Amino acid sequence: MRYQRPKGTADILPGDSEKWQYVEQTARDLFKTYQFKEIRTPMFENFEVFSRSAGDTSDIVTKEMYDFHDKGDRHVTLRPEGTAGVVRAFVENKLYGPQVLKPYKVYYMGPMFRYERPQSGRLREFHQLGVEAFGSESAALDVEVIAMGYNLLKKFGLNDLKLAINTLGDQQTRDDYRQALIDYLEPHFEELSDDSKERLHKNPLRVLDSKAPEDQKFVADAPSILDYLTPEAKDHFDQAKAYLEALDIPYEVDATMVRGLDYYNHTIFEIMTNSKSLGQGYTTICAGGRYNGLVKELGGPEVSGVGFGLGVERLLVLMDAENVTVPTDDSLDVYVVGIGETASATTLKLVQAVRGAGFTAERDYLDRKPKAQFKSADRLNARYTMTVGETEMADQVVNMKEMATGEERQVAMADIFNHVDQILTSK
Ligand code: ATP
Ligand code: MG
Repeated sequence: MRYQRPKGTADILPGDSEKWQYVEQTARDLFKTYQFKEIRTPMFENFEVFSRSAGDTSDIVTKEMYDFHDKGDRHVTLRPEGTAGVVRAFVENKLYGPQVLKPYKVYYMGPMFRYERPQSGRLREFHQLGVEAFGSESAALDVEVIAMGYNLLKKFGLNDLKLAINTLGDQQTRDDYRQALIDYLEPHFEELSDDSKERLHKNPLRVLDSKAPEDQKFVADAPSILDYLTPEAKDHFDQAKAYLEALDIPYEVDATMVRGLDYYNHTIFEIMTNSKSLGQGYTTICAGGRYNGLVKELGGPEVSGVGFGLGVERLLVLMDAENVTVPTDDSLDVYVVGIGETASATTLKLVQAVRGAGFTAERDYLDRKPKAQFKSADRLNARYTMTVGETEMADQVVNMKEMATGEERQVAMADIFNHVDQILTSK
């Protein structure tokens, strides 16, 4: 039998994993400047955590979840997204308590699982970087979160980005708009896609999110939610727009944008690219918004939240397509060339001494001739070689060569064991 990785999964090999590390480290550094701290929650949760939060009619819950009954007959789900688990943790650990500083700001990064049809930038196991901030209703926090996503993508050298924003308003807005949509769509019921027929009464906003071609013309002419905003909802949205302008972050208002998850309200946003590498048209890399009802939905008090999720695979596809180079550090400080079997223990002690001082070191493990070892040193981009054979061992020295210049000198082994840092940095 030939073993293959499951459909929709990927092996991330050396050569690529450096790109992942770069993305993760850059994100960590940026999030730190915004005072977001890392949270790690389980890779699986009880099914209800997702069905409650994403909404029973969302695509994620109805079609895409990896859920199963474990040996104790518990209905569990591999997390399809990060927010629900973070909110569950927020509630369970009472992070809304009076002794916790508000807003409570966290980020996460890790694998998510969705049963989808795999294609470029769409996998069954994929990775998200995400942030969540709890406990402030300020539109300034919405904009801070948007700015984080936007600036992160800019840091990766991506410039051709489109930020689309919309508002889903407050409860009153949604109730009014929901009715307006039903009134508008009902006469066209028979012409809608099967999915949208089902959504019409359960969750008409979701019809706007439909990708079915037959629904598109109705989406285009649908009433705009912006006409149903309550004064408070309009005010929040106006503030968010004003803050974006204050930060010189260009945006477009897309009144038909609703987002795939049910828990959003007020500001929602997507950062998109029209790079061909991810298919025709605009593809979303980073998406999020405000979800003021979610903490309560998962059993907590009325605490608001705002956040985003960013797809790492899509980001990497895009960075490749845009020829963004990732700074790599694959240089080697020292290659120790050992001549003859008797040198092996000394060679080992030398590489260990170099490593112990915080430098990178490599040696031969295949009994190769010195010439072949020097070749390896070259291929590994070694800064220095240190050669030890019988003579050097007898004299307790190594022959040290700077590869760039070819300059050679003898260095006492004791010096390497005691202060190799001085030897390697003295140049
Ligand atoms: P789409 O409409 O493309 O299916 P979505 O609305 O389902 O996206 P979200 O749930 O908002 O996506 O997830 C946020 C981000 O996570 C997306 O913008 C995307 O970058 C990434 N993402 C979502 N699903 C996948 C997947 N199956 N494979 C890779 N990345 C994904
Ligand atoms: Mg999706």
